Amino acid sequence: IFITVEGGEGAGKTSVLDKIEIQLESEGYEVVRTREPGGIRIAEQIRTVILDISHTEMDSRTEALLYAAARRQHLVEKVIPALKEGKIVLCDRFLDSSLAYQGHARGIGFEEVKSINEFAIEGHLPDLTLFFDVDPKTGLTRIQKDDEREVNRLDQEKLDFHERVREGYFKVMDVYPDRITIINANQTIEDVYQDAKKEIQRFMGR
Ligand code: C5P
Ligand code: MG
Repeated sequence: IFITVEGGEGAGKTSVLDKIEIQLESEGYEVVRTREPGGIRIAEQIRTVILDISHTEMDSRTEALLYAAARRQHLVEKVIPALKEGKIVLCDRFLDSSLAYQGHARGIGFEEVKSINEFAIEGHLPDLTLFFDVDPKTGLTRIQKDDEREVNRLDQEKLDFHERVREGYFKVMDVYPDRITIINANQTIEDVYQDAKKEIQRFMGR
């Protein structure tokens, strides 16, 4: 089963995935925990290129292509083999991040970004996507407490960008209504985890 978690900055994706991973493993499932961009050497290197360079220096279509390239290599090298072995793949971000961030928020266009990603993923969509919906102000406040390096990046990107990211995710949900479930990520991390866990259990028919 291929499960992805999506959402804006500070939604709690990483913290909640830590808990879900532990829970599923305690139930005896084989879990592959991974993230995008990254998860394997080549894609982590692409991640460094994307995240270390400012948005004024990198053309936004170049950025979108790099995300799609990292996505493909990670999918082919790690996700698909794990799924073939019957494992549960838990991935922090996937396709929907590109649609929301590059397609909508950076203004490249939803359809343009969708088409390069269709090329990259060849139909390998997640079985279940949890969209952690956080109010951008709440999310940004959480992140600023976590990491000072993030503060500087977020200063550049600004709150209105994150409002657009959120809008982008709602657009994504219009396109893929069956695959994506919305989780209220304004709650405490523990409550977000409980909701996410219930949703995964429901999906797995338990
Ligand atoms: O998921 P994580 O917080 O590690 O992502 C790192 C950064 O990459 C985020 O701050 C996000 O703004 C950015 N990102 C992006 N476009 C994507 C995926 C992530 O701008 N498609
Ligand atoms: Mg994270």
